[in-house]
Amino acid sequence: MSSLFLRTLRDDPADAEVPSHKLLVRAGYIRRAAPGVYSWLPLGLKVLRAVENVVREEMDAIGAQEILLPALLPRDPYETTGRWTEYGDGLFRLKDRKGADMLLGPTHEELFAQIVKGEYSSYKDLPLVIYQIQTKYRDEERPRAGILRGREFIMKDSYSFDLDDDGLKAAYHAHREAYQKIFARLAIKYVIVAATSGAMGGSASEEFLAESDVGEDTFVRCLESGYAANVEAVITPAPEAIPFDGLAEAVVHDTPDTPTIDTLVAWANDTLDGTYDAADTLKNVLVKTRQPGGDWELLGVGVPGDREVDFKRLEASLEPAEVQLLDDADFAANTFLTKGYIGPKGLAANGVRFLVDPRVVDGTSWITGADAPNKHVVNLVAGRDFTPDGTIEAAEVRDGDPSPDGKGALVSAKGIEIGHIFQLGQKYTNAFEVDVLGESGKPVRLTMGSYGVGVSRLVAVIAEQCHDEKGLRWPKSVSPFGVHLVIANKDEAAITGAHELAADLDAAGIDVLLDDRKASPGVKFKDAELLGVPTVVVVGRGYANGTIEIRDRFTGEANEVAVDAAVESIVAAVRG
Ligand code: ATP
Ligand code: MG
Repeated sequence: MSSLFLRTLRDDPADAEVPSHKLLVRAGYIRRAAPGVYSWLPLGLKVLRAVENVVREEMDAIGAQEILLPALLPRDPYETTGRWTEYGDGLFRLKDRKGADMLLGPTHEELFAQIVKGEYSSYKDLPLVIYQIQTKYRDEERPRAGILRGREFIMKDSYSFDLDDDGLKAAYHAHREAYQKIFARLAIKYVIVAATSGAMGGSASEEFLAESDVGEDTFVRCLESGYAANVEAVITPAPEAIPFDGLAEAVVHDTPDTPTIDTLVAWANDTLDGTYDAADTLKNVLVKTRQPGGDWELLGVGVPGDREVDFKRLEASLEPAEVQLLDDADFAANTFLTKGYIGPKGLAANGVRFLVDPRVVDGTSWITGADAPNKHVVNLVAGRDFTPDGTIEAAEVRDGDPSPDGKGALVSAKGIEIGHIFQLGQKYTNAFEVDVLGESGKPVRLTMGSYGVGVSRLVAVIAEQCHDEKGLRWPKSVSPFGVHLVIANKDEAAITGAHELAADLDAAGIDVLLDDRKASPGVKFKDAELLGVPTVVVVGRGYANGTIEIRDRFTGEANEVAVDAAVESIVAAVRG
């Protein structure tokens, strides 16, 4: 440590909010170079490499073959699939000296499809899984929490190529199992959830979410049935439609000062027969959306008034279109929008697309805006008095909501996406016409899967799940060192003994971090706790009596062992 390129910091970095970010910076694992762009210092790089190797071993074990593609890519293939535009502001675009458009790869479906088309021509070559562990670039809107959400980050991305759906399913399941092994080896607590397919296109898709309160993904599960899904992928069970016969007429009422759901419900209970709650009102939220390369358009989203619109669900439902809330300028430009009193009829009359929550089935009656200040309509019946342009999954999902499989209630938790597996199908092989000659002599279009693991993000995730108030605590599978050996004794014999012990451990194949600095034991112990190597060995006062101490960073347990038996005991502790 006296020569290690490492400086630990006493204070948390000012820009850090989550524990993993604070600790990885304080412990000298990473340093910020720009927002969402980080340098790896020696300890950080060792953990990163260890994670990478676990991932590599499990990929190799399913017969995947490693290759390495460039990060600097031509525009052409991304133009072919539309993603040059679809990616929006998330793509780092640049020009070379000749003015040709280039990009920094955010993900590589295009390039993998092209490379397979170039190399393979016969059904005999299939199936194939190829992968890389490579740097990706995404100009994230909110780079966050250090390496948890970077603009430059390392991903393992693999791609499967098969002749048919059965082949694709087999490759998908092989990945699913490989990922389970990877995350078990990394000691991560995670769940597998159903996911939306997003910008990748395609159908079946699942995410691996590490359980964490600082996660940006919310998932729900049904403890009775085992159903689990990212909230973005939850399909709301729609109730049965209600016959129109006998439903009351729609009536417009004066509803003074009722711009909010609460004031409207209070008015209804005061004025109308019966009792009402927020779920009897239809809240119409106005947003604007823009298809890639298109213009902004208004969109009305109707949800039962007891629910908020969940912006992430809305975004996921509209992807690849962008979505924003309306600002004052938008209201000024569209004077028919009466804030607080927007109704389905006004939207229809002004050609605004109107999508509703799946609970708004034909025959449901609503209290909703009547498109004039201080006016609402009561008993506006879906399918009779207004016809939405379709449904949308945008309303928040709440604890206690029925599970889509009908087998119980949902409970929610937060998670960090660490892996994602997709059955892409033929989206990319169609785009590049990736065919091989089939057994029958006819061309066969290949079908593709894509599978990602956030390798650099995993370093932060492990730190997040394993730390305590004193510092990091690495699982043995990724610790930067096998042993952190602290010299806490100024005696010459002890110092020599510690160096000999380090050499012996080294010879026994253990990677040793030796704290040979001229610092107080207190400072050294604090650093050992901060750095988080799971096994700490102290050559201290007991050395004169022939003992050293082995400390377990996870349990805090300390054991004295005889110097003579030190190597054996330490090896057992490290390997055990
Ligand atoms: P997110 O929803 O977190 O933005 P994503 O769905 O866009 O992720 P994928 O395209 O599925 O990500 O990428 C595969 C994996 O790469 C993710 O599961 C995640 O672990 C990792 N990853 C994605 N974006 C980042 C990022 N900005 N920084 C670090 N890792 C990332
Ligand atoms: Mg994903």
